Amino acid sequence: MSKFACICGHVINLSHGTSESELSLVPETTIDAIGGILSTRGLSEEGFYDAISDGAFTVYRCPKCGRLHLDEGDGIFSSYIKEEIVQRG
Ligand SMILES: [Zn+2]
Repeated sequence: MSKFACICGHVINLSHGTSESELSLVPETTIDAIGGILSTRGLSEEGFYDAISDGAFTVYRCPKCGRLHLDEGDGIFSSYIKEEIVQRG
């Protein structure tokens, strides 16, 4: 089982499809395309998973500190931490 140690010390399970920390960052264009397919010819479960993963990024959210770790492939992650909350507008 692959694991990733967050900077805060929390260890995140990277097992695909089983980790509650695993998220998919899906482009709006992909979501629109899936909507189009669903409204015209339908989509199998396998087709849905194939379509939604097309161009998507896998992101892990640390449940302890909230950092987001974007999987760049080959074991490389780009990590992001929440900035101070500022209300705009
Ligand atoms: Zn963390």
